[in-house]
Amino acid sequence: MMEEKWTTEVREKTEKHPCYCDTAHKYARMHIPVAPKCNIQCNYCNRKYDCLNESRPGVTSEILKPEEALEKYKMVKEKIENLMVVGIAGPGDALANFQETKRSIELIKEYDPNVTFCLSTNGLMLPEYAEEIYQLGITHITVTINAIDPKIAAKIYSKICYEDKIYTGEEAGKLLIEKQLIGLKLMQEKGIVCKVNMVMIKGINENHIEKVVKKVRELGVYMSNIMPLIPAAGSKFEDMKLVSNGELNALRKKCSIDLKQMYHCRQCRADAIGMLGEDVSLDFRKGGCG
Ligand code: SF4
Ligand code: SF4
Repeated sequence: MMEEKWTTEVREKTEKHPCYCDTAHKYARMHIPVAPKCNIQCNYCNRKYDCLNESRPGVTSEILKPEEALEKYKMVKEKIENLMVVGIAGPGDALANFQETKRSIELIKEYDPNVTFCLSTNGLMLPEYAEEIYQLGITHITVTINAIDPKIAAKIYSKICYEDKIYTGEEAGKLLIEKQLIGLKLMQEKGIVCKVNMVMIKGINENHIEKVVKKVRELGVYMSNIMPLIPAAGSKFEDMKLVSNGELNALRKKCSIDLKQMYHCRQCRADAIGMLGEDVSLDFRKGGCG
């Protein structure tokens, strides 16, 4: 049961969002890859545009301009009737490309006012854009928070770029955490449903995640999504030891005492289309990347 802080409309949208509701698997979502840049560097990330069938966050075969995203939306909507959600999940950060994100949403919303819009972000720019996010009618936000301790964050992020300045180490971690937590609070005040993603990294934050879950629960987050690290080739964490499914699910179970957990995340590509687990994005690509 969702709490009263969300409007009836937002609660109904949540019930039809395949990521937020585990019984909404019959509905489809579409990621529009309009956000290539990122303002931080996570040690597990290496964004690239691929022609391969690689499936993980940060991967896309194309970058679309807002107008192209609208055209693609029209095409997809014609073929997939149960399409409910348009999400911006990179391949970089939705808020580090705010003008493209904003324009894409405006165009699609004008064409189809009933779409549910969601964004994924690292949260660095969340406080700055909170009001505009609300005005745009975005109802669901995912923030990835891997640590609330700057010492641990310093091991996960190699740099952060904020207001034309580069931050590193604990200073970077402190700044990012501060923005993420303020951002979450603002989202709650505006009645936006928040999910917090956490990447479980062996030897780094595996024993800290429970603390993060407790903290975000205090801030009114709807659910958390603890995901296993998928170290991208060429990233600093390329050779990092992985957590097992048993370890992952044990942690999720432990955290479920405090907060609703997502167990069905597919760690989708930035251009994923379709129902979860049934990505049909290949059918809608512009014409390969040669
Ligand atoms: Fe990559 Fe996302 Fe981290 Fe940016 S926030 S470096 S896109 S994983
Ligand atoms: Fe949903 Fe997870 Fe895929 Fe995002 S990555 S669209 S949360 S299933």
